[in-house]
Amino acid sequence: MRVFLLVFALVWNLALAFPRVGVHEGFTRLVFDLPKAEIEPSLSQEQDQLIVVFKGIKVAPLDQVVNSPEVVSVQTVSEGEGVRVVVRLKGPVEAKVVRYTDPERLVVDLTLKKEAASPAKPAPDPVRNRPPKPPKPVVLLDPGHGGIDPGMVGHVVEKEVVLDVALRLKRLLEREGIEVRLTRDRDMHLSPDKREDLSRRASMADSSQVNLFISIHVNATPTRTAQGVEVFYFGRAQDARVLSQVIRENGGGELGKRLTQEACTVAERILSDIVAQANQRYSQRLAETLGRHLSQVTGSPYRGSFPGDLFVLRYAKVPAVLVEIGFGDHVVEGRRLADPAYRERVAQGLLAGILTFLANGAYAR
Ligand SMILES: [Zn+2]
Repeated sequence: MRVFLLVFALVWNLALAFPRVGVHEGFTRLVFDLPKAEIEPSLSQEQDQLIVVFKGIKVAPLDQVVNSPEVVSVQTVSEGEGVRVVVRLKGPVEAKVVRYTDPERLVVDLTLKKEAASPAKPAPDPVRNRPPKPPKPVVLLDPGHGGIDPGMVGHVVEKEVVLDVALRLKRLLEREGIEVRLTRDRDMHLSPDKREDLSRRASMADSSQVNLFISIHVNATPTRTAQGVEVFYFGRAQDARVLSQVIRENGGGELGKRLTQEACTVAERILSDIVAQANQRYSQRLAETLGRHLSQVTGSPYRGSFPGDLFVLRYAKVPAVLVEIGFGDHVVEGRRLADPAYRERVAQGLLAGILTFLANGAYAR
């Protein structure tokens, strides 16, 4: 599993923005997530600036300080029907430009030109010039419910199972060199008010220090006959069945309906925001990857990944999903979820999905 660590170095600080900026050993990477294939950028370099112009897209203005060995800052400004991105450089750079599809994106790697490191310069200070150690990737795990809110109660109690799985997954991730944060590490609620409780969990994901957000839950259905794995990413629920599940995870009843309505207005806004759209595509990919691996490792059927107006995911600025690890009210699967050995397999399935997403996912480039 060591091989994954190399690739992690590529993802660590690609926070949600246009462009996403990653600082790596020897180069700075800019990733421009694009809404469609037809958009052709033009690049030009003058002295200490690289300018990239995109026609036909709109993004919010941005001025981010990068301060890598190659780049001072990146500024995004509207220009007519498009966007001009001004990259301020620390010296002349070599720009390697690659176009990727699925999802559509342009990747620009900037390396300082050799002559920039001229021999006339004083000898480099070995301590100061040591390349920065890439920080560990950080995964935020959210065991759903807790304290006064048990979640679903069937053959198991949701709040107990998801906490146990999250703690097991934390240990496995840490063994792979990944830093883990938890929204809760014991049987507790974050607030007695459900809206406030979900908002606190969401705000922990809304941080540049977190790379992935995974909320862990146990499923239930009125017929008690369903089994399998489902994963949700943020977006408008597409059918009545998904909507009723979303309402349940948003607190249930009238409260769940209200919070779903609130989340729904945020979901509609995504349609006009290409940065949020790109994050939605990565979240969808994370959902698919987690679902398939979890199903493979546990043998529980994979029922699919779906968009849902989930309150806890609504403002996430990194790939974020809510995973239903199984149905706690199914006569077979519910009893399996009560078994510690099975929960360990659930944690291993989630681990495999996370590692695959970080290593192979388009998010890394
Ligand atoms: Zn739940």
